[in-house]
Amino acid sequence: MSRKPLLKVENASCWFDVSGPWLERVLKRQPPVKLKAVNGVSFTVEKGETLALVGESGCGKSTVARMLVGLYTPTSGQIEFDGHPVSALQSRDGKRLRQRLQMIFQDPYASLNPRWRVARIIAEPLKVHGQLNQAERDARVDELLLQVGLSPTDRDRYPHQFSGGQRQRISIARALAARPEFLVCDEPTSALDVSVQAQVLNLMKKLQRDLGLTYLFISHNLAVVHHVADRVAVMYLGRIVELAPRDELFSRPRHPYTRMLLSAIPDTAGTGKRRIPVAGEVPNPLNPPSGCPFHPRCPHAQDICRQVMPATLADGAAQVACHGIEQGWVTADLME
Ligand code: SF4
Repeated sequence: MSRKPLLKVENASCWFDVSGPWLERVLKRQPPVKLKAVNGVSFTVEKGETLALVGESGCGKSTVARMLVGLYTPTSGQIEFDGHPVSALQSRDGKRLRQRLQMIFQDPYASLNPRWRVARIIAEPLKVHGQLNQAERDARVDELLLQVGLSPTDRDRYPHQFSGGQRQRISIARALAARPEFLVCDEPTSALDVSVQAQVLNLMKKLQRDLGLTYLFISHNLAVVHHVADRVAVMYLGRIVELAPRDELFSRPRHPYTRMLLSAIPDTAGTGKRRIPVAGEVPNPLNPPSGCPFHPRCPHAQDICRQVMPATLADGAAQVACHGIEQGWVTADLME
């Protein structure tokens, strides 16, 4: 695997104005209200790797996904794909860039037009990107159906005639139609039965090997992440609190939130590691806690945690944002 960063995200934020009607706010003299969905995240994704973004619902991971494919504009910060600003995706010249960067959504049924036959759904990106004549598009659709484990005879059927797993295969075929290099996968298996999830994940891994794809894989399910990821970024309330190689993160989690998430996975290996109960709820992002946003749930919080936001620092192969790790009162043996 080459080590060239294909995607570079630097201090990117995405804030939404949720103030309500302008006139009402002016009359009541209320200040604008900002929802800080993503707040200063930085990471790279190297060519050929899978970076997983994990965290509880509402932590901002889907907002990051939508910024990467140009569906949301960052409030601040930089996002570059192969050296080009992602803001160019929406420009006239961004066509080639859009072709190289595609997205797979969580709900395969909602993302497929129910009135279109499969062949039209899969061929649509080819028409949009102005590639190939009709006969060539037909041949490409057949090739894609085979590539995702379906049959060319499926081309004239409608989405409702397929199972959930098969519909997600159709979504993957559509995403692959224009021969992208980078797929942003937003919880691609979470709407599927557990038995079907493994089949779709294995298909995605095979496609990655065969086609040299790069994935940003978003999930709340750490077992799924362990199956697919090379590196893992853990998000909490719009920030990345830990980023580490997969095996490092699972065997030696540093951040107390990562430890809490891992504790929720059944100890099937019988390691006897101490369980840390998943306590409390994610705070309201409209009114985030001061200092470290995890402090109201953290069993190791001290005064500085309530007052000062921890910086992200390198710790071996990982990057972690935690005063306790920086100052030494949160140690690895807390998980033993
Ligand atoms: Fe816990 Fe403090 Fe570390 Fe935040 S900075 S995770 S509150 S120890």
